[in-house]
Amino acid sequence: MLKEKIRHDFDVEAIRKDFPALDQEVYGKKLIYFDNGATSQKPRSVIKTVEQYYLSDNANVHRGVHHLSQKATDLFEASRRIVQNAINAPEEETVIFTKGTTDSINLLAFSIGETLKTGDEVIISEMEHHSNIVPWQMMCERKGCILKVIPINDKGELIMSEYEQLLSDKTKLVAVTHVSNTLGTINPVEQIIEMAHKKGAWVMIDGAQSIQHMKIDVQAMGCDFYVFSGHKVFGPTGTGVMYGKKEILENLPPYQGGGDMIDKVTFEKTTYNVLPFKFEAGTPNIAGCIALGEAFNYLSGLDHNELAAYEEELLDYAEKQLLTIEGLRLIGTASKKISVASFVVDGIHPFDIGTLLDKQGIAVRTGHHCTQPLMDRFAIPGTVRASFAFYNTREEIDQFIIALKRSVNMLR
Ligand SMILES: *Cc1c(COP(=O)(O)O)cnc(C)c1O
Repeated sequence: MLKEKIRHDFDVEAIRKDFPALDQEVYGKKLIYFDNGATSQKPRSVIKTVEQYYLSDNANVHRGVHHLSQKATDLFEASRRIVQNAINAPEEETVIFTKGTTDSINLLAFSIGETLKTGDEVIISEMEHHSNIVPWQMMCERKGCILKVIPINDKGELIMSEYEQLLSDKTKLVAVTHVSNTLGTINPVEQIIEMAHKKGAWVMIDGAQSIQHMKIDVQAMGCDFYVFSGHKVFGPTGTGVMYGKKEILENLPPYQGGGDMIDKVTFEKTTYNVLPFKFEAGTPNIAGCIALGEAFNYLSGLDHNELAAYEEELLDYAEKQLLTIEGLRLIGTASKKISVASFVVDGIHPFDIGTLLDKQGIAVRTGHHCTQPLMDRFAIPGTVRASFAFYNTREEIDQFIIALKRSVNMLR
């Protein structure tokens, strides 16, 4: 009953009209876009916001005395408050604009790294994106710190008892993903954070795959840092956010030096600006950051619970049909997942499947998904990943399954 009701209320055709890029053909076939884990399509309002900025509001922010600069600054700072509200950050200055998740994590790896000493430990997990592995490895090498890794089980869930074993008084930071981009696993971040805090360690949550699928409340979650990319949450590329607790950010050293992040510069000594500017050196992606706010405005007009229920339905529907294909194995069968279906088919390389699907108008991702250690864990070269957004439909999944069966038969 409930599911029927959801489907009735949720008008996916109306929503699809907001995303112009969905309405096109590739190789003469209707585009089916199932690569939302890599980047999402943008609603018209976001695209228009970028255009509007360059048509009439373009000026540098925080610098000019003139009207246009003030207008750009107001729009930019208003967007910061929209993001603040969207993630329920306690103060607007705790929302730092970056270029994306990768940039946010590099910022933290540098700035947090400056506070660490030889022998301190950082914990990540086996399912991390390379963006949440390599910056910490670089930092550990630079500072003589030790990187530890939480293993996962065969379903693709973190083994929490092993995590408990890894935590110690030497643990200074735990950096884990909220949701796996490859497996779809939703990690128990509240529990992870509580356990780390008992040891006095900070926790950074990689929200690159959670912000677009669930309501985020950084205060309820209790994380010390939460990072994400604008482009995966229906906003522009080259934008992102690093949220951090104010008392921590105030005491961390800046990452990059340059304009806007300073208070006073002399050749002898430079003092730094207050939050958030201390972490925002140089001219930012002004149009992009303003449009990111518009992406959250767009989302706020939709019902998060409805979206989540609809996406869950899409995933159930897709997984049931995928499993009817002989030799197909789902990679990532956690009990709590977002709408990502990753799979391999016996004897067929994922890339070959992806190539044939593409010729039929279907965009999926194949390969290691920037999670090579995770592929090693499952002893596979890669997967085919279909990742769904709320603008995808059951009919698209039907087409996808037909095309997949055709491809598998051709390759067998
Ligand atoms: C995409 C992704 C990243 C990296 O995001 P960029 O936008 O490329 O900086 C990091 N972590 C996860 C879980 C991701 O899905």
